Amino acid sequence: MVLLGVESTAHTASVGVVGESAEILAIASDMYRPPSGGIHPREAANHHVEVLPGLVAQALEQAHVRPSEIEGVAFAQGPGLGPCLRAGATVARTLSMLWEKPLVPVNHCVAHVEIARVLSGLDDPMLLYASGGNTQVIAYASGRYRVLGETLDVGIGNFLDKLWIALGGTFPGGPAIEAAAKEGRELLPLPYTVHGMDVAFSGMLTAALALRSKGASREDIAYSVEATAYSMLTEITERALAHRHAEAVVLGGGVACNERLRSMVRSMVEARGGSSFAPPRALCVDNGAMIAWTGLLALRAGTTSSVEESIVQPRQRTDLVETPWRRG
Ligand code: AMP
Ligand code: MG
Repeated sequence: MVLLGVESTAHTASVGVVGESAEILAIASDMYRPPSGGIHPREAANHHVEVLPGLVAQALEQAHVRPSEIEGVAFAQGPGLGPCLRAGATVARTLSMLWEKPLVPVNHCVAHVEIARVLSGLDDPMLLYASGGNTQVIAYASGRYRVLGETLDVGIGNFLDKLWIALGGTFPGGPAIEAAAKEGRELLPLPYTVHGMDVAFSGMLTAALALRSKGASREDIAYSVEATAYSMLTEITERALAHRHAEAVVLGGGVACNERLRSMVRSMVEARGGSSFAPPRALCVDNGAMIAWTGLLALRAGTTSSVEESIVQPRQRTDLVETPWRRG
């Protein structure tokens, strides 16, 4: 079985093709980069509309498959930015009708879990999902993925992006903060906001900018923000492991590309005698292959959608969707 998947929840338009055993046959992506400031949903959507047809052609070519060999078309139904989701869904519906292949809706967060799970070989890992718009600790229980803890305000990536732009940089902020942090020397005090299993970042944004106005260097701010924010994520991940008597963690989302976050989580998990896994960067960030793979699991379990039912769901929660392939 070969599936094609379309991802367009936020800034990245991507088309992936995967095979029966999660062979990644193709990933063709194009990220919208605003000339200045943050992402405007409509402008990102216009970008996706422009690039997606070319990405479909590129992905088919990379995968060496003909449309007739594609057995289903998956797309990210939510959560995400409405206009961006609609761009991807429209392309997926069109391909599904044109090729006469089933249309398979996929939850974007579940797709991050599933791609990390299959690549890790771990049977039932928890996911620390740290991306632009989402920050969640996710685990499977009774037919669905459950959110055990999450951000109470912005996603960690959006926080890093906002901070970096306010410090005079450009989007995306996360990788630039990672580079700057390597030059940082002093750990500056910042609010460490963990409420039980949840975290919050807006207080840290205000405090970091206040430090800047008092003369702190960008490097020290970057270093301190990484230390504080990633400790918060590591703490809630550890608490989730302890409560569930679990020992395996996978990472996903663009912020999971970060070496410091990866190593902090790895140290914590290994100290508990468990194991952690972070997918290669191309599969941590938003990508069409994870949508295709999760679509393949769903299709095998009998999940398809009519065009009428395929309406996008910008606020679709991780725990709202059933995952019938994980039963039994
Ligand atoms: P996603 O929403 O999963 O596509 O991830 C995008 C987010 O990941 C953006 O907010 C980026 O700033 C962030 N990001 C990407 N690479 C890194 C990195 N190396 N360290 C921290 N954040 C990163
Ligand atoms: Mg994502």
